[in-house]
Amino acid sequence: MTMNRILDFEKLKEQCKLLKADNVAVIDVSKITFRQELRDMCKSNVCGRYGTNWACPPAIGELEEGRKKINQFTKALVIQTIYQLEDSFDFEGMMEAKKVHKEIFEEITDAIKTMYPGLNSMGLTAGGCEYCEKCTYLDNKPCRFPDKLIPPIEGYGIDVTDLANTSGIPYNNGPHTVSYMSVVLLK
Ligand code: SF4
Repeated sequence: MTMNRILDFEKLKEQCKLLKADNVAVIDVSKITFRQELRDMCKSNVCGRYGTNWACPPAIGELEEGRKKINQFTKALVIQTIYQLEDSFDFEGMMEAKKVHKEIFEEITDAIKTMYPGLNSMGLTAGGCEYCEKCTYLDNKPCRFPDKLIPPIEGYGIDVTDLANTSGIPYNNGPHTVSYMSVVLLK
């Protein structure tokens, strides 16, 4: 079902702000750029999650497959949270920032589902799915909570810097801050 006609993007943005998103924008999905280099970085396992999670490559398929899946949607609600660090070496703060971002994003996706029941949407967030303590991928068993699985933006080869520029959202929000971005794709 195409929902564009009934989606109130201003209301959606307001809701995201209420749930503590710092920056929110709506862009056309056709403006999202995909890069094979980012997928190659996944393969080099910089984050240590390659081949360990149903939400990450190779489980989510090749770049082209992902691009087709994403291009079935028309609009992207882009959400950013900004977290203040103690200093540039505040590793714990960086981890906390990601945790807080994911929690806010989950609340936002739940709120959207409540506002628009049956809406065809897909979330993409920062980092692999961490919903379960241990992902079933390595045991070759199906995902336990497909409704809770949110794949990482980079896993689909999406360039977050480009995404920030296209959305008019600053990629960097100043010294001693860390910013994370997520997306809700909407039809
Ligand atoms: S919900 Fe659990 S089983 Fe499914 S991808 Fe996430 S961590 Fe893995």
